[in-house]
Amino acid sequence: MKWLIGLGVVVAIAGGAFWYFVADGATPTQADGEFDIAAYRALVANDAPETLPQEVRVEFVGESAAPSFAAVAGDFSGDKTFAYVSFQIVAPDGATIIDGAVDAETLSVMSDGSGAFDAAAYQRVLDAETQAARVMITHEHLDHVMAIARHPQPAAIAAQLRLTQSQLDGLPEHAPGGVLGPEIAGITTIDISAPTRIAPGIVAVAKPGHAPGEIAIYVRTTSEREYLFIGDIAWLMGAIERTSSRPRFIRFIMPGVDPDRPAVLRQIRALHDLRTAEPDLVIVPAHDDEYLRGLVGSGALIEQFVVRAAETPAPSGESPPASP
Ligand SMILES: [Zn+2]
Ligand SMILES: [Zn+2]
Repeated sequence: MKWLIGLGVVVAIAGGAFWYFVADGATPTQADGEFDIAAYRALVANDAPETLPQEVRVEFVGESAAPSFAAVAGDFSGDKTFAYVSFQIVAPDGATIIDGAVDAETLSVMSDGSGAFDAAAYQRVLDAETQAARVMITHEHLDHVMAIARHPQPAAIAAQLRLTQSQLDGLPEHAPGGVLGPEIAGITTIDISAPTRIAPGIVAVAKPGHAPGEIAIYVRTTSEREYLFIGDIAWLMGAIERTSSRPRFIRFIMPGVDPDRPAVLRQIRALHDLRTAEPDLVIVPAHDDEYLRGLVGSGALIEQFVVRAAETPAPSGESPPASP
C-alpha cells in the first residue's frame, strides 16, 4: 500500500510541476488602465491630417519554427512559424522604423541553422534606417536589434535613434566585439515612462515586463487606422486571445525573457480586453507570422519597405585610369 501512496505523491508532484512550468500562463481577471488608449489618442488629436503617417510597411527578414506551447502556455496545437520583422511607418516628415530584426548569424544560432533568412529584406532594413527620420525598437532582445547594434554605418543611423536608456543599455552585448559604435553609444536617450508623442500620429510608452526596455507604440494614420505595436508582450496573438502568456519553463531556455512576469500577465489581460473594446485597433505582435501575413492580406500592412536607390557618388571630374 505504501508504494501506491508513494506513486500517488510522485504523480501529483509531476502533475503540479507540469502545470506550473508548462501549462500555466493565466492572467489576472482584470488589468484596467494598463493601456490608456484615450491618452494616446489625445496626444495626437491635434496633429494635422496632412502630417500623419500614410501607411505601415513590413519586412519579413527571417523565420523559424517552434511549438505553440512555448509561446502560449497550454496551447498544444503544434508548430508555429515565428517571423523576425521590421516595420516602416511612412509619413510626410520621413519614416519611423520599428525594430531591427535579426541578421543571418543570429537567426542561425537561434534556430540551430534551421531558420530561413532573406538577405535582400535585411539589406532594405539597413538602408531604410539611414534614410529614416526615426529608428526605434520595441525592446532590446537580440531578435529586434541587429540592424541597429550591427549596422555597418553606425554614424549614418545614430541621429535617427529614439531609444530609452534600458534599450541602449541592452545593445552593446549584441554589437560586434561587444562594443557599440561611439556614435550610437553617445546618443541622448528618451524618457517615455508616461505616454509620449514621438511624431505626428505616433505615441510611445514604456511597458517593462518582457524586457526592461519593452515599449508599446501607438500609430494613427491618415486613413484613421490605428495600430498598437506591442513587441514581445505576446509572441503570438493566441496569447491575447486565450489570455495565456508564455510558460514559466521558457526562462530556463531564455533567461532574459519576462524578468517581470506579473507585469506581462497584466499587459496580456489588458490587451485582450482592449481588443474586445476596440475591434478596429490593429494590435501588432512582433513574431506571429500567420497573423502578420494576414494583416498584409487585409491591407493593414504593406510588404516591403520603401527605400530610395543609393545615391551615386558625384563625378570627381577626373577620368578613370586607362587600362594598361
Ligand atoms: Zn523579446
Ligand atoms: Zn522577439
